[in-house]
Amino acid sequence: MKKILVAGGGHGGIAAASMLAKRGYDVTVYERHAEDAMGYDWTDIFAPGALAEIELPMPGKDLYEYKENMTFYGPSYRTALRQDIAPEKLEIKMERRDIYAMLISAAKKNGVKFVFSCAVHGPIVLGNRVVGIETDQGAVYGDLIIDACGIDSPVKKGLPEVCGVNGETGENNQFYVYRAFYNRATEEEVKDKYKVCLYAEGRLGIGWVATEPEYTDLLIGRFEPFDLEEANRTADYYRSLNPSLGTELKRGGQFVKIPVRQPLSRLVCDGYAAIGDAAYMTVPIIGSGIANSFKAARMLCETILADRFGAYSADTLWKYQVSYYKALGAGFAVLACVKEALTIFTPDEIDLMFDRGILNAKDLSIDADTTDIFKIFSGNNMQDIRKKLGVAKDKTLMKKMMTVGRKIAAVMSVTAAMPHRYSKSAVDSWVRSYEKAISLKLL
Ligand SMILES: Cc1cc2nc3c(=O)[nH]c(=O)nc-3n(C[C@H](O)[C@H](O)[C@H](O)COP(=O)(O)OP(=O)(O)OC[C@H]3O[C@@H](n4cnc5c(N)ncnc54)[C@H](O)[C@@H]3O)c2cc1C
Repeated sequence: MKKILVAGGGHGGIAAASMLAKRGYDVTVYERHAEDAMGYDWTDIFAPGALAEIELPMPGKDLYEYKENMTFYGPSYRTALRQDIAPEKLEIKMERRDIYAMLISAAKKNGVKFVFSCAVHGPIVLGNRVVGIETDQGAVYGDLIIDACGIDSPVKKGLPEVCGVNGETGENNQFYVYRAFYNRATEEEVKDKYKVCLYAEGRLGIGWVATEPEYTDLLIGRFEPFDLEEANRTADYYRSLNPSLGTELKRGGQFVKIPVRQPLSRLVCDGYAAIGDAAYMTVPIIGSGIANSFKAARMLCETILADRFGAYSADTLWKYQVSYYKALGAGFAVLACVKEALTIFTPDEIDLMFDRGILNAKDLSIDADTTDIFKIFSGNNMQDIRKKLGVAKDKTLMKKMMTVGRKIAAVMSVTAAMPHRYSKSAVDSWVRSYEKAISLKLL
């Protein structure tokens, strides 16, 4: 029986483990936290359709509710753009602990073994093949290692160059986040319950204030680390604009990281496949990664099942990479350019885009299922944008937009040329072109 080790209890890793164990594989998950400490003390939003991909039913109705449309603001908080997502496309909001409980219970039923409170230190590599993992309970060996250890995975980071997996997340590619639930300070009806502000106070990043019946949820995200003093100061700024945001910390209050970049250029090597945040599977402009990890788990499971002799080599696992990029990854690589573009616009330019309708409510009506840039920016065509900028007479902004457009075109053409069949030289050459296109400077 083929032995599969899952390093870290990431969502995609547990989902893949569950489907593989159901089909007779010997699968063990090694997770550093205790079972009752999995996940975070807060809620998540994801597309419920992804549950069917990993053979899970919809959760009980008491465990979720449909998400509110969000209202977006520019840095000055003066123009509001409210999403209008079709009801059938709305995502659900669930406690992260309940998502984990659901995943783990199904996985156990299917025969997955869990080793909780066990930290993974790194990969064990023989030649160019990953053959096991070092854990604080000793070395364990398997036929395939699925890396679901999240953004800072020590398995990915410990891979030698010969494996070809570039484990560096890179500058401006991760969001440092503070998230906390405070008491709801007013009983008054709040019209826009879920407010998202780009570049609040002119700082690179986002912030959201979501007013719930029992609490008000604050998230502050920046491209650079910040401390509790700064989080508290920023929270006060949001309080000045949102009377519902109280001062009594109810839940959360943690600093975490979210990857916001293109997916890993190489998801697999001999004996190894990355999934979830370890592979940077979040939507780069909104940071949602749960549904994508579930979809990737399905693709990985199909790839493993198709490998009848259990070689689990870069060659046989390549199918997983091709499926992922085709369905999601190529779109996310383009969205990573859009995220990068946000870093070159000044707060005034972002405000102007809101005020002039260059960004509009339709553009921002995206959900975690959206990967196509043309669907996102469907609210305007280039002619509209030129007209609106013409009125604003802003040549600098237009020039920046053209530069972004050129980079997007380069990234699109490289992802479209990804080899469908594995050959080391063709894949090495593709990875070089992909990383070159992604590293094109915008300024
Ligand atoms: C504040 C915040 C809000 C978010 N909101 C949403 C949302 O609303 N919707 C959405 O879709 N996504 C959201 N995300 C993103 C989402 O959490 C991830 O994209 C998703 O969970 C997939 O990541 P993962 O499970 O692979 O990694 P992680 O969630 O990082 O899980 C990795 C797992 O590996 C374990 N691990 C790590 N290192 C080791 C080690 N050395 N040894 C053993 N175990 C280890 C960790 O304990 C953890 O259990 C949010 C993220 C954050 C931080």
